[in-house]
Amino acid sequence: MQRLTFNPPGVIMTQIHQLFQLQKLDTEIDEKKKRLGEVLKAQKEPPALLAARQRAETAAAELQKWQGKHQDLTLEMGGVNAKVISSETQLYSGKVTNPKELTDLQQEVESLGRRKAALEDEVVNALVKVEEAQTEKTAADEVFTTAAAQWEKTSAHLKADQNELALALHKLIQSRQSKAAVIDAASMQEYEQLRKQKHGLAVVGLRVNMCLGCRTTVSANKVKEVDEGRKVYCGGCDRLLVAL
Ligand SMILES: [Zn+2]
Repeated sequence: MQRLTFNPPGVIMTQIHQLFQLQKLDTEIDEKKKRLGEVLKAQKEPPALLAARQRAETAAAELQKWQGKHQDLTLEMGGVNAKVISSETQLYSGKVTNPKELTDLQQEVESLGRRKAALEDEVVNALVKVEEAQTEKTAADEVFTTAAAQWEKTSAHLKADQNELALALHKLIQSRQSKAAVIDAASMQEYEQLRKQKHGLAVVGLRVNMCLGCRTTVSANKVKEVDEGRKVYCGGCDRLLVAL
């Protein structure tokens, strides 16, 4: 009875309800913070997009490589052709009469002919590779463009969610501050400590005779005390009970 003298049930009831309001806000803040963490994490580019970008980059490099190769071969071909013409011109000019020189020229023309034939094959091969690389690049670009557009949409949604959550959190935290300001220091300390021990949930509702924190049945005696506005803790989870 002495406790009642210092803390009449009405005052305690008000305190308990204030703590319950605070608990509701804290639960919402915790949920929103968790969601914000998830939203921030989800804004990392997905593996499919990274793979599509990698494929497009590889395809572009491959195409560039074969285009360069084709260009080099074409240039070399031009050089060989010019040499063939100059050697043949010399060979059939009638100006060279020395048999050794003629034989050398003949051999050079033949050798250039072989190089030219080999180069023609290489040019054709390079062209085939250019076409293949072009096809692959087109396909890879298409996949990447689609994936990037899809990601842009998703990330825009995520960004909007992030802003919305940040704003909501800001408001909730402000309202929590004003709610906490009217609660006495001792009650706040007890509440914070209990929240730490009980996974963020210190004050729970009592529905008829069931604790909504741990779903156990609360004794009739305790239910009565809760209804009277006294400070009662659940026997199952040790949380502070509040009549709903
Ligand atoms: Zn409980």
